Amino acid sequence: MAAESAGLAMNRPGSASGEHRSGTRLVGHPPRPNPRWAPILVLLCGACGGEAGPGPGPASITVQPGADLVTAIGAEAQFTALVRDETGAIVTSAFVVWRSVDRSVVTIDPNEGLATAVGPGVTTIRASSGSVVGTALIEVYLEEPTGPFVAGETYFGRAEYVEYQAGNLPIIISAPHGGAVEPEEIADRTVGTGSPDANTEEVARRMAAAIATRTGGVPHLIISHLHRAKLDPNREIIEAAQGNPFAELAWNEYHRFLEVASIRVGQAWGSGLYADIHGHAHELQRLELGYLLTADQLALAPATLEGLAASSSIRAAANASDSTFVAVLRGPTSLGGLLEDEGYAVVPGPATPTPSGTPYFSGGYSTETHAERRQLICCPHRAAHGRHPR
Ligand SMILES: [Zn+2]
Repeated sequence: MAAESAGLAMNRPGSASGEHRSGTRLVGHPPRPNPRWAPILVLLCGACGGEAGPGPGPASITVQPGADLVTAIGAEAQFTALVRDETGAIVTSAFVVWRSVDRSVVTIDPNEGLATAVGPGVTTIRASSGSVVGTALIEVYLEEPTGPFVAGETYFGRAEYVEYQAGNLPIIISAPHGGAVEPEEIADRTVGTGSPDANTEEVARRMAAAIATRTGGVPHLIISHLHRAKLDPNREIIEAAQGNPFAELAWNEYHRFLEVASIRVGQAWGSGLYADIHGHAHELQRLELGYLLTADQLALAPATLEGLAASSSIRAAANASDSTFVAVLRGPTSLGGLLEDEGYAVVPGPATPTPSGTPYFSGGYSTETHAERRQLICCPHRAAHGRHPR
C-alpha cells in the first residue's frame, strides 16, 4: 500500500496544493537540437541526400490530462500530447503547437504545453500538428470556503461535492462515505475500498435535526456527496483522491470545513463532541463506538487499559472527568452506557465492554486528525449495519 501510494504521489508532485504539477511526459514536440551538434546534424542530412522519407503524418492527437484544475493565479499545469498516424502508431517526430482558447483564464507556452492560470473560469487547451487538433479542458477555481459561516446556513465547495451546515453547538457530525455522485471528471479510485456506507448521510442529517429540535441550537454537519469510489475523505489525501485534482480539491474542502467547525467549537465552547458516521456490514447488529482503541486494546485488563487514555480519541473527556478513563470509556454514564439505556446494542459499553474477537472498527483518519488538532472528543458512531443502519 505504501509503495503504491508513493507512486501516486510521484505522478503528481505538488498536486495537493494546486501548485505546479507535471504530468507524465508522453510524446510532444521533438527535442530542440543542441546548437553544439548542429554541424553534425547538417553532415547527417548531407549524407542522406536531403529529406527523410515522407512517412505517414499525424492523424490524431490525444492531450493528457483531458481535464485539469488549478486553484491559484500563477499556478501551472503541464499538458502533453500523444500524436498517432492513421495506423495508430505513435509519431515521435510530430511538431505540436499549443494554444489556450481563452487567454483570460490561462496562457500556455506554445512549444512546451505548460499552462499558467490568469483568472477564474474554464477554457479549452488546443494542441495542433498541421491540421490535426487535440483538446483538453482546464479550470481555474479560486473560491475558497471562507466565512462568515452563519449557524443554520449551508455552504458548498466546488460543484457541490462537499456540504457544510454551519452550527453553533459544540457538536460536529460528519458523513464521509454516504455520497452517490459519480462525476466523469474524477476517475474511479484504484487503491483502497470504494464501497459506500449506505444511508449514513441520512443518519447524520437526522441526528443533526434531532439535536437541533431538542436543544434549539445547530450542530455542525459536514457531508461528502461524492461516491466513495471517487473520494474517500476518511483517508490521507494520497489514498483518498489518488492524484485527481478535482477529488483533491473536494478532500481539501471537506477537511477545511471540519477545521472551521472545530475552530468555532473551540472558540465558543472550549471543547466539543465529534461524531464521524459510518456503516458496517458486520454480522452483529450493534453500534460500534470507535475511540481509536483496537479490539485487542479494549480486551486488556482495566488497570492496563487505564494507561491508554492518552492514545484514545476521548482523552479530552477523560481529562475533564473525575471518573477513571475506563468509566468514561464504557461505564454506566459513558456514551455506550447511555445508548444501552435507550435499548441499543453497543460495543464498548457496560454490557459488552470489548468486541471479544468479533469484527470491530476503532476509528479512522478524520477522528485521528481532528481529535489530535482540536482536543475534540471523537467517537466514530457506526450504524448497526452498512446496508440498513437504524
Ligand atoms: Zn465508512
